[in-house]
Amino acid sequence: MNHKLSQKNRFTKAHTQNYRQSFALNRNVSGFNIQKKELIYTIVSDKSDGAFIWDIDGNKYIDLTMGFGSILFGHNYSPICKAIENQLTKSWSVGPISPLAGILAKQITTATNTERAAFFNSGTEAIMVSLRIAKAVTKKKYIVFFKGAYHGTFDPLLTLRRDEQTNIAKESIPGITQSILNESYVFDYGAEDSLDFIKKNKDDIAAVLVEPVQSRNPSLQPIEFLKKIRSITEQNNIALIFDEVITGFRIDVGGCQKLFNIQADIVTYGKVIGGGLPIGIVAGKRKFLDAIDGGFWKYGDQSIPTAKSTFVAGTFCHHPLAMAASLKTLEILTNNNGQLLKDINIRTSNFCHRMNVFFKENFPKLSIVHFGSLFRFVTPGKYKELYNQLLLNGVYIWEGKNCFISAAHSDDVIAKLEDKIKLSCKQLLDNGIIKTRA
Ligand code: PMP
Repeated sequence: MNHKLSQKNRFTKAHTQNYRQSFALNRNVSGFNIQKKELIYTIVSDKSDGAFIWDIDGNKYIDLTMGFGSILFGHNYSPICKAIENQLTKSWSVGPISPLAGILAKQITTATNTERAAFFNSGTEAIMVSLRIAKAVTKKKYIVFFKGAYHGTFDPLLTLRRDEQTNIAKESIPGITQSILNESYVFDYGAEDSLDFIKKNKDDIAAVLVEPVQSRNPSLQPIEFLKKIRSITEQNNIALIFDEVITGFRIDVGGCQKLFNIQADIVTYGKVIGGGLPIGIVAGKRKFLDAIDGGFWKYGDQSIPTAKSTFVAGTFCHHPLAMAASLKTLEILTNNNGQLLKDINIRTSNFCHRMNVFFKENFPKLSIVHFGSLFRFVTPGKYKELYNQLLLNGVYIWEGKNCFISAAHSDDVIAKLEDKIKLSCKQLLDNGIIKTRA
């Protein structure tokens, strides 16, 4: 047990204890085991700036969580703050639609090479709507998705298992009942058997949902597999949905669609594009987005909405503050031909390369995998203690372990980060947590 860490976070722990009776928060029980219970809490923080956060004990950390990947420019980035403040002085009411929503939709479709876009409050909501419109338009009901992906908390996508005979998702999470999973097929990501299955069952499958590069496994980038899926879905009236909630506006303004040169039918976005405020976007081809409002029509003539529409709604969709933050985010991202993202990607890649050289020479069981500015440590067995050691040394990584480099992670911050990682590894050895380097 890491007594020093427990001591360092004593106010965070006292706060957590104080409110546990009232405040139900699963992050405060993540990874619970009786031997480790003194270190089971999530950091409580009310101060952040640039690449740093401070906990309520006053400790400063290099933040590698960065709002679960929603903060790309750094905490409290002043152009985003100003855009929000400016909007606050005008209106932050919902009811009538903000003029910013139409403007943002137009800019998003241009930036992502899609035809239409609709706004929601979270990635989960965007995924839910994308599946609904896929089913409405194709008039089919099954969906295919892949193990290892995370698509948020929509019930038909929450499973840890499948039936090996039928490939149907199996009940494995309390409250997610089998009947909710009965239209969900699950395959290993990149597995050829899924392609045959989709072809065989083309008349029943409405959508294939992929997280093109899974945040939990960023080194797997199966471009050829995705191209095959694109071709099969295109030929068989199946919607190909790219979940770009993490990769969108991070790997490139055009996301994986642009990078891999694959055009999906529907794409979901969230996180980065909200500039730190809650957002979920469904974008894509007219054929599918028209299921939201019946499609294009004009005043002053005989035209009418011709597509059959389904139902979507939400009190806080198109929230003016989120629209303002998002517009400013897009403006910054598209400046200079998207150079900002290119720079962050290169900086992350160089950092990961240097760390992997260090690991290979000193701790060969450890490594880092990355995709653009998302990275993860690979920490077998006892090396999992690295996260607590990093926390002790002032590096904040959340329970899900996805790490993000932002524009605020300057060369100087990254140099400090590298020192802290090296020190943490050495301490694991010195403290006897790992026995040998090899
Ligand atoms: N899709 C992906 C790929 C995600 O990483 C996430 C969230 N981490 C979601 C969907 C769900 O987004 P939200 O948490 O905003 O509901």
